[in-house]
Amino acid sequence: MIFCGETILPGQRKQVQLPVPDAKPLECICLCGKNQGQTLVVTAGVHGCEYVGVQTLRILAQELDPATMTGNVILLPLTNPYGFYAGAKRVIPEDGVNLNGAFPGEKNGSLGQRMAFALEDTLYSAADFLADLHSGDCNESLHPLVFFPTTGKTNVNAVALEAAKVLSVDYRVRSTARNGLYSWAVQRGVPALLIERGGQGRWSQPEVDACTADVLALMGHLGILPGGEENRKQQEIVETDYVESDADGFWYPLVAKNQVVCMGEVLGRLESLTGKLIQEVRAKFDGVVLYHTIALGVHEGEALIAYGHT
Ligand SMILES: [Zn+2]
Repeated sequence: MIFCGETILPGQRKQVQLPVPDAKPLECICLCGKNQGQTLVVTAGVHGCEYVGVQTLRILAQELDPATMTGNVILLPLTNPYGFYAGAKRVIPEDGVNLNGAFPGEKNGSLGQRMAFALEDTLYSAADFLADLHSGDCNESLHPLVFFPTTGKTNVNAVALEAAKVLSVDYRVRSTARNGLYSWAVQRGVPALLIERGGQGRWSQPEVDACTADVLALMGHLGILPGGEENRKQQEIVETDYVESDADGFWYPLVAKNQVVCMGEVLGRLESLTGKLIQEVRAKFDGVVLYHTIALGVHEGEALIAYGHT
């Protein structure tokens, strides 16, 4: 295989630098299977405090054996090293850009826009399938889930949906996003998923083990590893309400992740410093809580809670 101008021979593992205009390159690990097949691209760390995927790919980069593979894997464990080393919530600290909303990028834009340009330019053309690993952010409590696309071409959506079914997450959530690393890939014809596991700026070995199993399951599904994969027991979330803060305030969630809620139930309250009620969040339908903010202080427009129904 050839990636970013580097040739990787069958059975070989190689560290390859992904060039970013006017910035440090990003470090990729390419594994070229002994036999030809599909290429899976897996990215993590788009958001710097979402650690489960980062740790998973760091270990998989060492442990996967290309000699046993039919097809290729390209791993990018640290897509946003700036945010990772700074411990920055959501954004690239240098320019305040949320990389997962910066697609399509700009070759001559800010650092985040140039990174988006470089990622699209190099990864999409190499990928038969792309998976982007996230967690709840450092201020979020989240139940494991996968977002699958509904805004791409029919066949692209269908390939992504079938792959989502082999993942060990309880919820598979319909997504209409278009401007993220995975969702823009879908717009460009690459089947892709966004997998979320963990949160609150933490990671654990059981979460990394589960995330590792999901990457291996995707490889099996794509025929890169032998065996194929059975579909897992999941619930499909067909509608999600993403509630944002009406103002700066103090946030008091009254429910937990994975909690079943009823239409009309109060999910949380936003209050002022002096105790005035700013916003009372009530469920618009019966559903289940996918994630919510745990921070006491929130900015206007920030995510408070997301719940959905099957
Ligand atoms: Zn994220």
